[in-house]
Amino acid sequence: MEIVYYPDPVLQRRAAPVDLAMEGLAEFVEEMKAAMKSANGVGLAAPQVGRSLRLFIASESGEVADAVAFINPELRTFGERVPFEEGCLSLPGVNGDVERPESVAVSWTDVHGKRHEEEFSKLMARIVQHEFDHLEGILFITRLTPADRIRVKPALDSFEEHYRSG
Ligand code: ZN
Repeated sequence: MEIVYYPDPVLQRRAAPVDLAMEGLAEFVEEMKAAMKSANGVGLAAPQVGRSLRLFIASESGEVADAVAFINPELRTFGERVPFEEGCLSLPGVNGDVERPESVAVSWTDVHGKRHEEEFSKLMARIVQHEFDHLEGILFITRLTPADRIRVKPALDSFEEHYRSG
């Protein structure tokens, strides 16, 4: 399983709902957890491994044991908007502050088909919102301040050049 980098188009399109009867779903989730861990991430969305599906993994500790798989998630954000530095496994080396609501209520399905509902705050709320954005084809760089967007432009240019040259 390989991580897809910016500006691959799969990262910039809205992902399709997961069919829970999909063959190999549980194995795919386990592979995503392992890929997140080996990349030292705290979250990974299916489009980031080239699959345009509404599914992401989030783990506050970055450990596989703590990783939760959110399938077909729905979000409702609430609370004060707070800045926090984000990065992304699809944009290694690019970081910047993003303002997001501090809490989120999520409903999702697990790999066994059971529906869950839970509220998250702090780091988990941050990860969930960042990963959910991936399902909508939104990258965190589009949420940076205008000054930070200028700052990261050279790095984005170099990712684009690398992508074009294959
Ligand atoms: Zn990301």
